Amino acid sequence: MKYFDLHCDTIEELKKRGENFLNSTTQFTIQDQERFEAAVQCMAVWVPDSIRGRAAVEFTDSHLAYLETLVEMIPERAVLADSASELQKGVEEGKWVFIRTIEGGAALGGDLEKIVHFAKKKIKMMTLTWNGENELGSGCAGTGGLTGFGKEAVKLMEENGIIVDCAHLNDAGFEDLLNITKRPFVASHSNLRSCCEVPRNLREDQFVELVRRGGLCGINLYSRFLSVPDQKGEGERELLFRHIYRMLELGGEDCIAWGTDLDGQITCDPSLGSPFGAASFGTYLAERGIPEGAVKKFCFENAYRFFQSYMR
Ligand SMILES: [Zn+2]
Repeated sequence: MKYFDLHCDTIEELKKRGENFLNSTTQFTIQDQERFEAAVQCMAVWVPDSIRGRAAVEFTDSHLAYLETLVEMIPERAVLADSASELQKGVEEGKWVFIRTIEGGAALGGDLEKIVHFAKKKIKMMTLTWNGENELGSGCAGTGGLTGFGKEAVKLMEENGIIVDCAHLNDAGFEDLLNITKRPFVASHSNLRSCCEVPRNLREDQFVELVRRGGLCGINLYSRFLSVPDQKGEGERELLFRHIYRMLELGGEDCIAWGTDLDGQITCDPSLGSPFGAASFGTYLAERGIPEGAVKKFCFENAYRFFQSYMR
């Protein structure tokens, strides 16, 4: 099986627990590596809204350094890719391929020059916000759109090869983003609001626009983004299926991918809560009548094609 996941928060958990990829107790694990034909994971450094200025940059740098140290321990099994050719090579060699990303534009510490800094550190994708407010704009807990700083940041990210990730952004910010972005962007770990009415999920018209612009939407495993409480008890596989099915109805066959959010303090069906668990969900989709081609696109091909095109 092939697997490409657009988002997990494993770096922070590993650093906090003092663990590495060989002794980890995190949801993300490399344990079932031999069962994958290809395995790619975007590894996000999550920067809390409360960390500001230089401290935010240092926080991000230290987590990136931790990730690099852990990957250096297992060169036979994992590689950090920062170009399309490295991505391809890592997949062909059967390694776990990791891509460096950031969750939370607070990482910039309010300094646009840090976009170049993080581009040099091989960051390939960054969310503009987390839930709260930062220098770039407000997340889904707030109402304001992108700030002037945020709009400038989008422009510079695109110029410097950092893919814009709209996960966590609020509706006003999404609208602003549509007006300024020139390249396809990503919602790395967001589901559909029509299936589960929470601000972290995308409205259907937002999803359709993401499709139209050639972007990607990563499906989040978090149970609270799958259903509102009164739907509980239906089983998370069924709920997950509904989001994917509706996205396919909306024309999203070439847009959907995994964005599991593993290790992001999420609760989910334990049988799904690992790379192997999530990847195995493809079998369930096929059993439920989703065509094999669409399942393959969702589990791997869409994200692989996108990063092959836009990672430089
Ligand atoms: Zn998140």
